Amino acid sequence: MNAPVEWSNWSGSVKAEPKAIARPETLVQLSGIVRSGEGPVRIVGSGHSFTPLCASSGTIVDLSAFSGLIDHDAESSTATVGAGTTLGDLCRRLDDVGQGLPNMGDIDKQTIGGALGTATHGTGPELGAYHTQLRGVKLVDGRGEERILTEGRDSEMIRASAVTLGAFGALTEVTIRNMPAYRLRKRRSIMPIGDMLDDFGNFYHSHRSAEFYFIPFSGHALRLASDITDAPATARPPEEDEDGIATLRLARNLLKSFPWLRRKLIGNALGKLPDEDYVEEWLKVYTSERVTRFNEMEYHLPFDEGPKALREIIELTEKRFPEVYFPMEVRAVAADDFWLSPFYQRKTCSIAIHHDARQDPRAFFSAAEPIFRKHGGRPHWGKMHNLKACDFAAIYPRWNDAMEVRRELDPDNRFISPYLSGIFGLQ
Ligand SMILES: Cc1cc2nc3c(=O)[nH]c(=O)nc-3n(C[C@H](O)[C@H](O)[C@H](O)COP(=O)(O)OP(=O)(O)OC[C@H]3O[C@@H](n4cnc5c(N)ncnc54)[C@H](O)[C@@H]3O)c2cc1C
Repeated sequence: MNAPVEWSNWSGSVKAEPKAIARPETLVQLSGIVRSGEGPVRIVGSGHSFTPLCASSGTIVDLSAFSGLIDHDAESSTATVGAGTTLGDLCRRLDDVGQGLPNMGDIDKQTIGGALGTATHGTGPELGAYHTQLRGVKLVDGRGEERILTEGRDSEMIRASAVTLGAFGALTEVTIRNMPAYRLRKRRSIMPIGDMLDDFGNFYHSHRSAEFYFIPFSGHALRLASDITDAPATARPPEEDEDGIATLRLARNLLKSFPWLRRKLIGNALGKLPDEDYVEEWLKVYTSERVTRFNEMEYHLPFDEGPKALREIIELTEKRFPEVYFPMEVRAVAADDFWLSPFYQRKTCSIAIHHDARQDPRAFFSAAEPIFRKHGGRPHWGKMHNLKACDFAAIYPRWNDAMEVRRELDPDNRFISPYLSGIFGLQ
């Protein structure tokens, strides 16, 4: 019998005391844990989700031994990798064999299994989230049996069981479709938020990958746009995101009661920020280091609702939540056909709001959530929200079909914790 151990997610918002954290090294060991380990059995990636998806009072299963490049094919640009591979490791291994991920989110610390589990995404109206790259899956179901799903023969099943919060099975291997390695030209500029919102649709559709951050209490947005190029690399400028966050926090601390002065000072400082324009290999462009811990809510809205919803979120924040200082991130994601994907059948504008991890985010996030919902939002599965099964059933057209597949793959609810009971309506 193992002594109780402690587990916490990246932001510190979720803590658990499972009976055991298991690190299986073989399929036989993993199957044994799923069959007879103390339940609930929750698979963990890198613990970067903000919600209690991985928490368990029974067994947390770390699949880091299931990692690395297993196979690759240059002609089809596909690669098979262990589901516990971190995205950073995945990038390096793919680049070594001349392949590149078509898109990435903000960081590379997640595992590919964890990224698939919550529909992790980057930005670009024609670029899908990571799960849209899937061509094949190996998983261990709730009975401890291995299932092998291949695109073509099992396309429906892949669409049902890829974005599934670790509640349909433990992914051990995934085959993903990539593209030949490439270079990106990335540009950064500052503009007033009103101009940015007026240019919203044009901006996203003029670049392969585009996003902007609204800097609260500044009146300004920071725009980032990337496009594929044949030009030679010019090296990425030094990263200043953390210095920027520290400056915004200082302005918040000193000027919380003087919003007009806060706006003037931050606006002036942003106005002096030089534009950036550089060319780098794909794997050096998308992601950054995130040192300051935060909590996050992100909602995925029908694309055209983005500017309206953001205007309301800005008004709410600047009227009622002067303690907020983290930039809001606004991205675009292509529509897909995965049943529990928040991008299911609709091009999306994703708006993310953040709060310092040392402060309670609930008042801010709970006030923002009705705005996101009013505009047709679906929450990011790995970020904070207050929705339950009945809400999901109303916003996911294939919810009931997905629940049927879940029951078939995990008939004894081995993967169901109290948190997931609420999500799937199993109480
Ligand atoms: C600093 C930071 C930046 C982020 N940036 C982005 C971003 O740019 N875009 C975005 O969309 N999200 C982003 N996120 C959210 C993050 O990508 C997701 O929460 C992601 O799921 C975390 O991956 P992970 O490996 O840590 O998985 P975990 O949080 O450990 O697990 C997530 C889910 O996947 C399941 N899971 C993990 N591995 C497996 C497996 N092998 N088989 C089956 N199920 C599995 C777990 O059970 C759980 O339900 C960010 C989070 C942080 C903290």
